Amino acid sequence: MVEEQLIPHGIKDQRVINTFYKVERHRFIPQELRNIAYADFPVSIGEGQTISQPFMVALMTESLQLKGDEKVLEIGTGSGYQAAILAELAKEVFSIERFEVLAKRAEAVLKELGYKNIKIKVGDGTLGWPEEAPFDRIIITAASPQVPLPLIEQLKESGILILPLGGDLGQVLTAVEKKKNKLKYTEICSCIFVPLIGKYGYKNA
Ligand code: SAH
Repeated sequence: MVEEQLIPHGIKDQRVINTFYKVERHRFIPQELRNIAYADFPVSIGEGQTISQPFMVALMTESLQLKGDEKVLEIGTGSGYQAAILAELAKEVFSIERFEVLAKRAEAVLKELGYKNIKIKVGDGTLGWPEEAPFDRIIITAASPQVPLPLIEQLKESGILILPLGGDLGQVLTAVEKKKNKLKYTEICSCIFVPLIGKYGYKNA
């Protein structure tokens, strides 16, 4: 996976590469789909949700420019795989998932694997996690119509937020930097994610 999908497609950060060798992706994938755990596409994890394609997880992670001392907020825990990757590269990870069954399963795997610097809660991630704010980095792993306002407020000065911005036909992976209370948007590439459903996301269909 690392040598065929990540490195040839431009992932360069050596800390990120090492982490993808270390974290076992199949542990986060339902038993019956483990034969495709390392394939170059998203895989179903139940509740109509998916674990993102390995390259997309790596690209989003690299774009966060983690050094090791950051407090990170993730919206959309899903399988918990991205949270584990972040926990290897940052100090603390807070992750919010709207489906309790997914949150509980992710929590169990992450506990089994021994992660102590990840906290998960069930709820609407578009509201953020005010009790733990501010965050150095925020990552939204679901398609958003806009940057949810509470998340802008909970991002530190000079912080970076990564999200797939756009509608259900496709989005643009975007990095948003908060500088002197202004937002600087940088487009990274096109992508397709499941929708962010919540007060500052899409309305439940
Ligand atoms: N990061 C995940 C991939 C998640 S897919 C992984 O590594 O496996 C996107 C997830 O976002 C889904 O599990 C979906 O249920 C969740 N989601 C969608 N809207 C949300 C919201 N408002 N708050 C929290 N989670 C949300």
